[in-house]
Amino acid sequence: MASPVRHIAAPLNTLAIRRDFPVLQQDIGACPLVYFDNAASSQRPTAVLKAMDDFYQHDYANIHRGVHTLSQRATDAFEAARARVARFLGAQRAEEIIITKNATEAFNLLANSLGGLLQQGDEVLVSELEHHANLVPWQMAAQRYGLTLQKIPITETGTIDPDDVRRRLTSRTKIVAVAHVSNVMGTVVPIREISQLAHAAGAWMVVDGAQAAPRMAVNVAQLGADFYVVTGHKLYGPSGIGALYGRHDLLQKMPPWQGGGNMISEVFFDHSTWREPPFRFEAGTPPIAEAIGFAAALDYLSALSLDAVAAHEDMLLQKAEAMLRTMSSVRVLGAPPHRAGILSLVMDDIHAHDLGTILDQHGIAVRAGHHCAQPLMQRMGVPATLRVSFGLYNTPDEIDVLENALHDAKKIFGVA
Ligand code: PMP
Repeated sequence: MASPVRHIAAPLNTLAIRRDFPVLQQDIGACPLVYFDNAASSQRPTAVLKAMDDFYQHDYANIHRGVHTLSQRATDAFEAARARVARFLGAQRAEEIIITKNATEAFNLLANSLGGLLQQGDEVLVSELEHHANLVPWQMAAQRYGLTLQKIPITETGTIDPDDVRRRLTSRTKIVAVAHVSNVMGTVVPIREISQLAHAAGAWMVVDGAQAAPRMAVNVAQLGADFYVVTGHKLYGPSGIGALYGRHDLLQKMPPWQGGGNMISEVFFDHSTWREPPFRFEAGTPPIAEAIGFAAALDYLSALSLDAVAAHEDMLLQKAEAMLRTMSSVRVLGAPPHRAGILSLVMDDIHAHDLGTILDQHGIAVRAGHHCAQPLMQRMGVPATLRVSFGLYNTPDEIDVLENALHDAKKIFGVA
């Protein structure tokens, strides 16, 4: 079920918004493009393209090491972008934001650095609905540091029950790592309740916000997240950039995980000392122009208001769910109490990849596969799903196009 619209925000002017996205102004074959693959990657508005273009044309230089004017300008712009991410996530200070190349790198940083602070036999509690990015690095850390990985199973409806989390927390649990929004079913996980339980048990709360941050207002303090991960290309920004929020006192305790330039305080031939966070976690030249583009994307999103985006995607979700309920041979995965703009479906007797191919012939971009969430697929007993994921530029009319294409697929495959 889609969530009731809880937000009072002026509705999005989708017509005007669509004009901001050049890529949407095209046909695929004979059909207008319907872009429903936003959970994999969203598209970029002109404001982002222009910000990066301007930066490359006028201000580009490497940062932090130069005394010349361009380097100063580039450094200021990069640090302003960090501060922009901090504001977007409700962080207290810019130093709590580490720039990464994507969400995956942020989890690898955490698993390596945070994992190394733990004792053998300590437990990391990870949910069953995680993207591989918030699971595999913890598996690797468990092997390296002698930790134990514990699973939080999902409920029948496809969410996480805080009471179940409470039962699984032990005196050895040191990290609870959970997605804010499932990239497969769109489940909005009750992070606040879970983080309260984690903290009461003395564990740190790691939240995968890759799918939540583009779809709802996020405030790390309100959520009780000790660490919160986002990725630029799902936030209408460039690829090649992500960010990790970390509580400052925790970042200060954490060792670096990659060595090289910029992360050191002093280097001697046989040892080095580290800079303060966030720099100690940013070895080498960072994604500079991408950071400028990322900040422009966050400006764009914030100007529209995340509450308005949430309400818009909720409206689309309700329409899509109502349409799919009337369609025989279609099953929507999960029925969580609160879903954000993503859903997965399976159709009797048609493989998700075949369905995706037919939808493409109607100009519809969707994703078919396991969505890098194989344990969730195993739990749901399906090899693959067709995932429809909305963005701020999608329209209700596009759901009619989807309905028509699904009927067409049924006809082609002779499904009732
Ligand atoms: N977490 C979730 C919930 C995701 O959906 C994704 C991307 N599909 C990731 C993490 C990984 O993001 P990236 O590929 O940008 O590292």
